[in-house]
Amino acid sequence: MVKEVGGGGADGGVDLVLTEAGEKTFVQCKQWKSFKVGVSTVRELYGVMAAHGAAGGFVVTSGRFTQEAAAYVTGVRTNRLHIVVDSYCRTDEPGVYAIGDVAGPPWLAHKASHEGVLCVEKIAGLDVTPIEPNSVPSCTFGHPQVASVGPTEADARRTGIEVKVGRFPFAANGMAIATGVDSGL
Ligand SMILES: Cc1cc2nc3c(=O)[nH]c(=O)nc-3n(C[C@H](O)[C@H](O)[C@H](O)COP(=O)(O)OP(=O)(O)OC[C@H]3O[C@@H](n4cnc5c(N)ncnc54)[C@H](O)[C@@H]3O)c2cc1C
Repeated sequence: MVKEVGGGGADGGVDLVLTEAGEKTFVQCKQWKSFKVGVSTVRELYGVMAAHGAAGGFVVTSGRFTQEAAAYVTGVRTNRLHIVVDSYCRTDEPGVYAIGDVAGPPWLAHKASHEGVLCVEKIAGLDVTPIEPNSVPSCTFGHPQVASVGPTEADARRTGIEVKVGRFPFAANGMAIATGVDSGL
């Protein structure tokens, strides 16, 4: 299916949306007269593709991509959700790193900051232990605060892991008493 979306108003630079088997591909025709398509055009298109979960994008032009734009496209690999990195936050482009939410799940604040430290230590040549994504604890700073790590009780049971459930009364927890929320388990 071909849908025209360009025209008046903000359109993210996209003129056509091609849809096949549920996959969207964006086409930008605004550069058709350009002799040089720079990195900012490509970067913006990538941003719109990521925001809308598009599988691919085309820039229609009568010219060429600048060297910088071509390097941007070939250098840093992304999937539909995030920049693809290895366990030391290295992208496919030598010397380019990505950390935090742009580098994929789990989308948690302490994972982002830990990756920042890990990445810089690795660059500095230190001996670094990579993050194991399934072992990152999750803390939700809501009310009440909730934390978890590893598979849920239901997932563990489903995969045949023996489960032992422990319960502890908030009435016996110093933090709970100090903050005046000392009821429940
Ligand atoms: C409502 C909400 C609740 C959350 N609750 C929790 C929670 O309870 N626990 C938890 O662990 N995590 C939580 N998170 C997730 C957590 O906030 C993120 O995982 C974390 O902030 C990711 O850090 P980051 O550095 O990757 O990205 P960000 O913190 O998003 O930092 C990116 C920065 O880049 C800047 N930026 C963007 N574009 C540009 C540009 N073009 N040029 C320059 N700067 C730019 C942004 O302004 C921003 O400051 C929550 C997130 C949301 C939205």
